[in-house]
Amino acid sequence: MSWDFSTDPEFQEQLDWMQDFVRREIWPLETIWRDLGGYEGLREALAPLQEQVRERNLWAAHLPPELGGQGMGQVRLGLMHEILGTSPIAPLAFGNAAPDSGNSEILALAGTPEQRERWLYPLLAGDLKSAFSMTEPHTAGSDPTQLQTRAVRDGDEWVIDGRKWFSSNGSIADFLIVMAVTDPDARPKQRASMFVVPRDTPGVEVLRDVPTMEHPWEQFGAYGGHAEISYNSVRVPAEALLGGVGEGFVIAQQRLGPGRIHHCMRWLGVARRAFDMMCERVTYRHAHGSLLADKETVQNWVADSAAEMQAARLMTLHAAWVMDTQGARAAAVDISLIKFYGAKVLHDVVDRALQVHGSLGYSTDMPLEQMYRFARGARFYDGPDEVHRQTVARRILAGYAPPPGEVPSEHLPTRREQARERFAHLLGALTAND
Ligand SMILES: Cc1cc2nc3c(=O)[nH]c(=O)nc-3n(C[C@H](O)[C@H](O)[C@H](O)COP(=O)(O)OP(=O)(O)OC[C@H]3O[C@@H](n4cnc5c(N)ncnc54)[C@H](O)[C@@H]3O)c2cc1C
Repeated sequence: MSWDFSTDPEFQEQLDWMQDFVRREIWPLETIWRDLGGYEGLREALAPLQEQVRERNLWAAHLPPELGGQGMGQVRLGLMHEILGTSPIAPLAFGNAAPDSGNSEILALAGTPEQRERWLYPLLAGDLKSAFSMTEPHTAGSDPTQLQTRAVRDGDEWVIDGRKWFSSNGSIADFLIVMAVTDPDARPKQRASMFVVPRDTPGVEVLRDVPTMEHPWEQFGAYGGHAEISYNSVRVPAEALLGGVGEGFVIAQQRLGPGRIHHCMRWLGVARRAFDMMCERVTYRHAHGSLLADKETVQNWVADSAAEMQAARLMTLHAAWVMDTQGARAAAVDISLIKFYGAKVLHDVVDRALQVHGSLGYSTDMPLEQMYRFARGARFYDGPDEVHRQTVARRILAGYAPPPGEVPSEHLPTRREQARERFAHLLGALTAND
């Protein structure tokens, strides 16, 4: 029987190194990275750190070795992402920041040798940036079968027309992976295909980076921006198609499963950092005759947060293990479970940490208000909570059927009647002994 919660010592050593490296080298950069002169400045600051990561064989760990990665599997990757999640810029130092990591997985899965050569390897080397352009302002992102962006074949080319938004990093990307409808009459999940579109292709118009709750200020061309993009008769060659015509959804699903595990583990990294701030604060803040640490409500928050983070962590690592051992399809329900549960745990832990800091927590003197704004988006990107709950509930309910005569299976009078019949000999013997 194998039921093992330990990490092998060799990999634990790597994790310990990462933990120390991220805290020592990357956390200090967080406070100034926006002043470094945009993405290029940040890249320069991270370059020597990336070198150290490569030397430790931890670069681009999400891809198999033949594609320049470490091929670690989802459980190990998950444990890595828990550490990387503690800082918004740590994944960049390790060559697996979203959306480049997911896009490199798409290229690895569906790219031809030529597409890999031109896009994947430079992306992995950190020489190119990418974006994933699927969500549209006027159709429901949670139901991408409604996509309106069209790609029409014209001779040796495809012509793309449509409008997208929230294409993360779209304004700094060298290329965009665009999801567009190629056959509107096909079955819903076979209507769309994916294309690699260089950002400088005529007709690609990056309109703005949409200011958001996380970044409420106007910006353009910054790392982490969410671009609104108009595709106006954008012509790309036939070779721009990724995978087959109509395979967009299949490819997207393969990309999203592992991505959700990484998100959930990164959220745990954020939650843990907020939790540490909460615990530190309550050890010295004094009010109404005692430390905050001595108030029952605060003790409940500490204990509940610890329990919820532990639950989310075990659920996520279990989903990763199912994916590693049985494949993405088998892990579908586990992944939906962690997606909405993990987002809630992140939100609640950050909220409590912010609360115990009072005005200080609400101020920009602490990272908590930023974490809180970040946490809110987690409830709907990569699929809103409601959709994941629906997936889970449908799968679970598919295992149930109405009972005969619509009498509940556990109806006590009915069960008693059945038991009396089955055990009549025992009951009869008792009566005889009376
Ligand atoms: C930080 C961030 C980064 C993003 N990055 C990218 C990116 O790189 N590329 C990209 O293409 N997109 C990206 N997105 C967009 C994201 O994927 C979409 O916002 C998401 O898919 C939801 O789509 P929508 O916003 O159109 O909401 P809608 O689809 O309009 O849904 C709105 C709400 O409707 C409700 N709802 C929907 N379906 C159901 C249901 N079945 N049952 C009950 N209620 C339901 C939910 O409450 C949901 O939140 C990003 C978004 C954020 C916030």
